[in-house]
Amino acid sequence: MQIVHSPLHLRHDGGMELHRGELVPCYEQPARADYIRHALVEAGHALVAPRAFGPEALLGVHDAGFVEFLRTAYARWREEGRGGSMLPSGFPARGLRRDRVPTGINGAMGYYAFDAGTPIVEGTWDAALAAAQCALSAAALVAEGKRAAYALCRPPGHHAARGTYGGYCFLNNAALAAQHLRERGFGRVALLDVDYHHGNGTQDIFWERNDVLFVSIHGTPETEYPYFLGYADERGAGAGEGCTLNLPLPRGTGWDGYVAALDTALRAIADFGADALVVSLGVDTYEGDPISAFKLGQERFPQLGARLAALGLPSVLVQEGGYAVKEIGTNVAGVLGAFER
Ligand SMILES: [Zn+2]
Repeated sequence: MQIVHSPLHLRHDGGMELHRGELVPCYEQPARADYIRHALVEAGHALVAPRAFGPEALLGVHDAGFVEFLRTAYARWREEGRGGSMLPSGFPARGLRRDRVPTGINGAMGYYAFDAGTPIVEGTWDAALAAAQCALSAAALVAEGKRAAYALCRPPGHHAARGTYGGYCFLNNAALAAQHLRERGFGRVALLDVDYHHGNGTQDIFWERNDVLFVSIHGTPETEYPYFLGYADERGAGAGEGCTLNLPLPRGTGWDGYVAALDTALRAIADFGADALVVSLGVDTYEGDPISAFKLGQERFPQLGARLAALGLPSVLVQEGGYAVKEIGTNVAGVLGAFER
């Protein structure tokens, strides 16, 4: 399978994040992508560089003001004489105004962010744009006739919404891939999110659309990040009513519970009559993941890959989470190897 990857991901290294009351080293770290790349090259997959899609390619799924904020945020931070990582500490929750973006960088950051776990550093924009280009390029390969392609994206994307960032995500790589497939002639696209965490950003982007089915299997937001989206009663709105399917599962779910939800998801995708598939491929469902609580052993990732392939659809696989750094490569290679076989 062709692997689209850019070394520019190295420019994003967040340093510290606020996690459950403590400032800790970021779980989302550069070594993740290195372990994946190494495992995939070892398994015989071909690495290709992304194509040069410009920022205008982002506007199919993101607001222009949001993209401009991300592009210029660190320079504005620097203008205030600051360095290191940008982390917001105030947000427009209930009772506060959301109808205007403060002109100062601290307020603007709180306006566009939805957590304090997603640092912006000097190279974040370069890395996020490169990851988006990887996803768009993988979608272009599939639009040109490849059966499947994989985008080794870092930073990940599925928590990034039309106009907000968080959850280690800035630009929604998988949503960009799905939008690209739609613009290249695929009438109906299914987007399956198998990351441990709900893909709130992707859901937000396609919430009112009936040409993209969004299906997510994830830890229940009652106890798991991102807490405020991903419940089973969220089904889409307007023209998109019925085109969102959330399958939340409790902490501790093992393969039996997981595969029942996976079969439900795959059935929904078949019933939708999808012409193409995008997979938000998080492997933080692994039992050794430090911030997640499903119990999938390493042997389950090839089984997941085989089931995804059995849909028989042109497919773009996009890297999302996975924080057991030493095992992440093996887990991703397990999915991709079985998908190809
Ligand atoms: Zn995740």
